[in-house]
Amino acid sequence: MVLYLKEFKIKWGMVIDLDRCTGCGACMVACQAENNIAPPVDASNKRYSMTWLLVYQLSNKQPYPNHDVAYMPRPCLQCGKPNCVPVCPVIATDKNQEGGIVSQVNARCIGCRYCMAACPYHARYFNWQDPVWPEGMEKTLTPDVSTRPRGVVEKCLFCHHRYMYARDKARIEGRDPNALNEGDYIPACVEMCPTGAMVFGDLQNPEHKVHKLSKSPYAFRLLERLNTKPQVYYYSKREWVRKQGDNYLEHETVGGV
Ligand code: SF4
Ligand code: SF4
Repeated sequence: MVLYLKEFKIKWGMVIDLDRCTGCGACMVACQAENNIAPPVDASNKRYSMTWLLVYQLSNKQPYPNHDVAYMPRPCLQCGKPNCVPVCPVIATDKNQEGGIVSQVNARCIGCRYCMAACPYHARYFNWQDPVWPEGMEKTLTPDVSTRPRGVVEKCLFCHHRYMYARDKARIEGRDPNALNEGDYIPACVEMCPTGAMVFGDLQNPEHKVHKLSKSPYAFRLLERLNTKPQVYYYSKREWVRKQGDNYLEHETVGGV
């Protein structure tokens, strides 16, 4: 497989502080509501789950009183070298000029699921069923987000429609849409997080908080050794969390601190 790294002037990214995340799941609910993800017809059937943002529980596996847990939200990591892109036979997904967001064009997708097999983070989901909305709920859909039919692969797009809205707003106000201020564009999950564990911005812009946080010795990326260069960073002062997040082996020293 040919992997490549496209460099962009703007790189939208997140830093998620795992020492602040309480695992409340507000980000998951915000994502479902914002992106018109229909409630499952049969929630007991886990094969059909559709959770673009999933919160995992990590544990240090120590007995009490040394037991400790952490919660790790996982959106699509918008990899710099995305494994999912080169395997798509119809170019339904691409690493996009608009801030390095990995796009997904539903109308092009033929449902072959090569991208799902290639993604090492399980961030893509196959839509097995047409969306069914309980009566009245269809009135709450986000108008800027299309609903997806069965037979296509879905994933987190960093709420790309909000990016388009922020750019349009900047244009109307006579500002440069390519130089958005921090806070002009925020995905739903970040906006909803009650503990402020999720920080969003341009990783390339030294004036955005994510730029500095991503360079902290406490910051790390999932499975860094795969060289997929995710645009989502995690942050924890707890060494065992950093080790598990990057799948360190027993004999390895921890990166950073
Ligand atoms: S996390 Fe998976 S779906 Fe997202 S860009 Fe990386 S390889 Fe692709
Ligand atoms: S950025 Fe948007 S689409 Fe991605 S996980 Fe967050 S709410 Fe969902």
